[in-house]
Amino acid sequence: MTLFGPISLHGGHSGEFCCHAEDRLADIIAQYIQMGFRQVGITEHIPPKHSKFLYPEEIAQGLTVDHMYQRFAQYFTTVRQLKADLADRIRIFAGMETEAFTGYLPHVRHLVTEFSPDYIVGSVHHVADICFDYSSQTYREAVRACGSVKDLYMAYFDRQFEMIQAVRPFVVGHFDLIRIHDPDYTKRVLQPDIAQKIDRNLDLIKDLNLVMDLNLRPLARGEAEPYPAKSILEKIRSRQIPMVPGDDSHGIFQAGKHVDTGIRLLVKMGFDTNWPVPRLIELK
Ligand SMILES: [Zn+2]
Ligand SMILES: [Zn+2]
Repeated sequence: MTLFGPISLHGGHSGEFCCHAEDRLADIIAQYIQMGFRQVGITEHIPPKHSKFLYPEEIAQGLTVDHMYQRFAQYFTTVRQLKADLADRIRIFAGMETEAFTGYLPHVRHLVTEFSPDYIVGSVHHVADICFDYSSQTYREAVRACGSVKDLYMAYFDRQFEMIQAVRPFVVGHFDLIRIHDPDYTKRVLQPDIAQKIDRNLDLIKDLNLVMDLNLRPLARGEAEPYPAKSILEKIRSRQIPMVPGDDSHGIFQAGKHVDTGIRLLVKMGFDTNWPVPRLIELK
């Protein structure tokens, strides 16, 4: 069984359940339906395990770890309700996007047991417990904590390797997000020490039969290419790892955007556009 046509398996963050997103989840899903999507994966961020992982806007709104957990529980209630209500119009997969900060593994295990998501997007947004993609300032802090930009990349891909081995996410999210505030990323990912870690991680993804996120968020920001970068996409293609578009939408305006561009790119590169059906893989 495979899925056909426009799809996003990473996104649907909504203002209802995420402080750095906008709009109601029902309205975001209505947008997918209007754009002709017959299937979509919704993957809200998991709540933090510790208050030090709250984002500034969450702290500003007075949210605590407990509030965030309750809100996440409410997310699953809402997305499952929408899934049932809209079943004849769109197939919704109720997922979640993980983190890889210190202590994430027992936390993710607990969330999986508690909420039984349809599938997981496995992402790394923290290195040295610093959220490097939050701003160019936090990126610089992460560089300082690691020693150099190269060391930051090395630590990122090591953490990603460990996360993939432990969590076995159906979708590996924005594989090279670590390039986000690095203008020299095209050359950096070819640097032998870094390329070796990239190859190692891709081999693991292939061994575990996982899927990769063609993450279109950079296009929404006006950047030239999605995650992963072209040279990495070629490595993925040669390993025959499936890639599925993810708009990484954080509001109605971004929902489904650039998915057509993403699919054209995949077709041009010779990827299969019969999409695998998301499922939960048992954690190690
Ligand atoms: Zn987000
Ligand atoms: Zn993410």
